[in-house]
Amino acid sequence: MDLFEHQAKELFAEYGIPVPRGIVAHTVEEARAAAEQLTGRVVVKAQVKTGGRGKAGGVKVAADAADAEQKATQILGMDIKGHTVHKVLVEEASAIAEEYYFSFLLDRANRTFLAICSAAGGMEIEEVAHSAPEKVAKVPISPLDGVNRARAREIAQAGGLPEVALDGAAELIEKLWCAFVDEDASLVEVNPMILSADGQVKALDGKVTLDDNATFRQKDHAAFEDKNAEDPLEAAAKAKDLNYVKLDGSVGIIGNGAGLVMSTLDVVAYAGEAFAGRPKPANFLDIGGGASAEVMAAGLEIIISDPSVKSIFVNVFGGITACDAVANGIVSAFELLDSRGETVRLPLVVRLDGNNAELGRQILADAKLSGVELVDTMDDAAKRAAELAAVGA
Ligand code: GDP
Ligand code: MN
Repeated sequence: MDLFEHQAKELFAEYGIPVPRGIVAHTVEEARAAAEQLTGRVVVKAQVKTGGRGKAGGVKVAADAADAEQKATQILGMDIKGHTVHKVLVEEASAIAEEYYFSFLLDRANRTFLAICSAAGGMEIEEVAHSAPEKVAKVPISPLDGVNRARAREIAQAGGLPEVALDGAAELIEKLWCAFVDEDASLVEVNPMILSADGQVKALDGKVTLDDNATFRQKDHAAFEDKNAEDPLEAAAKAKDLNYVKLDGSVGIIGNGAGLVMSTLDVVAYAGEAFAGRPKPANFLDIGGGASAEVMAAGLEIIISDPSVKSIFVNVFGGITACDAVANGIVSAFELLDSRGETVRLPLVVRLDGNNAELGRQILADAKLSGVELVDTMDDAAKRAAELAAVGA
């Protein structure tokens, strides 16, 4: 999960990292009130989860509250790289002497953490990294040793920071490392990390990516979720503990095992090429090993509530939960949904293979569920599901 700048800064502040005082505003009036409260010069900053806001006109300095209101009028509703601005951060303006770049990230390719530091920070950092890579220090960090104050100072020095900024930068970097580790982040970036006119080192921008795999031990992170941006179907699926991702096609997919579901998406997309409108997968849905009637019903319920779905492909490879259990799950799911007035009316193609496949197919054949077709191979089933989606479109 990526955080908004204002969330990143709230997190930084908890770790004692100096950030400017700021207030989030959702409307022009709120922006004005925020500027009045902060007094003096402020910066109005678009809150969108993408970089390059400054270049896009999403970061503007305002002289006073009336000016802040005007700047907020320009920024709210703006589109920045496909992200609509719904809120702004109004911050006390900083007098910038110098802009530096700093980040900690997980360097997957080299199986290590990495600190990246440069005295040439600010909006041109990508250009600097490209044209003058020697100005950007990349320092591998051992997870066992971590980063203490002395190490932090070395990194700042390697990045070419001037003597006056070293102590402040070292303190900021050490605290940022604590935030990176304690919050299970895969990225913390401060660009610019500034030296202010009065000699302080501060985080003027913040980008944080949290590792969602750590959610179970980071209960506080739920508060960072952006409910507005969440797809309603994904939210409903999450509430049912389903591993579901909404896609933009018309073939609903249910499978057991993430790997099988991933390859099902590929096979359906490929098969769809041959049909009118080129039907594609409508979702990723892994119902896992259990595949009980309840889970199957929950999965079908989500998929049939997606208005773009025209056909459904259930692709199951029987393992510990054998195909007969899955087939019974499908039959019970149909009954369950029927009894709730949510009858499945879409054509459903089922491919069962693996443990007790014969028995599973027999159960489904005997049940004579309307709209359900059994197809033996994954490729043929994908073709049939795509064909049915093309017909239904
Ligand atoms: P980004 O373009 O999305 O990375 O947004 P930033 O938050 O990094 O802001 C872009 C640029 O705006 C910074 O590099 C600064 O030069 C400038 N800026 C941001 N805040 C202030 C401020 O308080 N005072 C001044 N003078 N400039 C600022
Ligand atoms: Mn920035």
